Amino acid sequence: MIIDGKALALSLKEEMKKQMPLLKGKYGRIPCLSVIIVGDNPASRSYVKGKIKAAEFVGMESRLIELPESVSEAELIAHIRELNEDNATDGILVQLPLPEHIDEDKVIDAIALEKDVDGFHPGNVANLWLGRKCILPCTPKGIIRMIESSGTRIAGSKAVIVGRSNIVGKPVAKLLLDRNATVTLAHSKTADLKKETLQADILIAAVGRPEMITADMIKPGATVIDVGINRIVLPDGSPKLVGDVKFDEALEVAEHISPVPGGVGPMTITMLMENTIECFLARMEKR
Ligand code: NDP
Repeated sequence: MIIDGKALALSLKEEMKKQMPLLKGKYGRIPCLSVIIVGDNPASRSYVKGKIKAAEFVGMESRLIELPESVSEAELIAHIRELNEDNATDGILVQLPLPEHIDEDKVIDAIALEKDVDGFHPGNVANLWLGRKCILPCTPKGIIRMIESSGTRIAGSKAVIVGRSNIVGKPVAKLLLDRNATVTLAHSKTADLKKETLQADILIAAVGRPEMITADMIKPGATVIDVGINRIVLPDGSPKLVGDVKFDEALEVAEHISPVPGGVGPMTITMLMENTIECFLARMEKR
């Protein structure tokens, strides 16, 4: 019943690990992911650490470029352009958010389309919505894999996504639509959220509000994917990571449910590894 994102991620990474010597043998080198981090945001640091660790696990090359909080937009873009031209770099990831004096859109636009392993470049987004070949954003890609791994039938189902961000809600809606689900995108202005969620065969919570989806909002037998990552402090003062779904009670109603932590998070990182390999292969085939 529990969709174990951590275990699924591990098995996928183990497959990738086996692939590395084959890629090295065939192309003379292994895929390389370059990650840029700006400043000292602790959450960003921890996400980047996780990404570099995953790259090490699968045996791909990774490079970490650490820039100070004070770096100018022009300097950051210059680093990106250098990586765009760097033959040894297959994937470029700029950890978000960036400091306020930097325009994130300009930074994302500067990444070469074929190295945009996050799938955030407008060219990739356009191709996704046009149904053309593209690099898929990692979290939505991981969510689809998790739903599929549970054996849930997507075609013909009613999917409700709570949250309409560019990085999760909207792209996951498109991926579900492509798989013939009937999709509803709910958001903060949705008139009656519970009425919508109660109809969901597949419910995806991507809001960022701790445990806001309660058992009474879930259709019995639904598949529930919890994307939320919320750091809360318990009454005894200890910190805890919780999702957007009240897990313990939702478990009683849902047929399949992903936990937090150990759900979407590890799959997002694993899809980043997969995207880097896909970018590497696309570049190698173009040579
Ligand atoms: P955003 O803040 O960009 O978007 C949140 C969405 O939730 C918005 O569309 C907003 O609506 C909607 N929302 C807010 N309040 C309500 C409400 N009361 N009822 C219904 N909808 C509401 O968040 P992200 O998509 O970036 O992230 C969502 C969560 O997922 C966060 O906790 C984030 O940390 C996590 N996350 C996890 C990842 C992972 O790898 N596990 C990756 C990415 C995100 P409106 O548009 O109207 O404002």
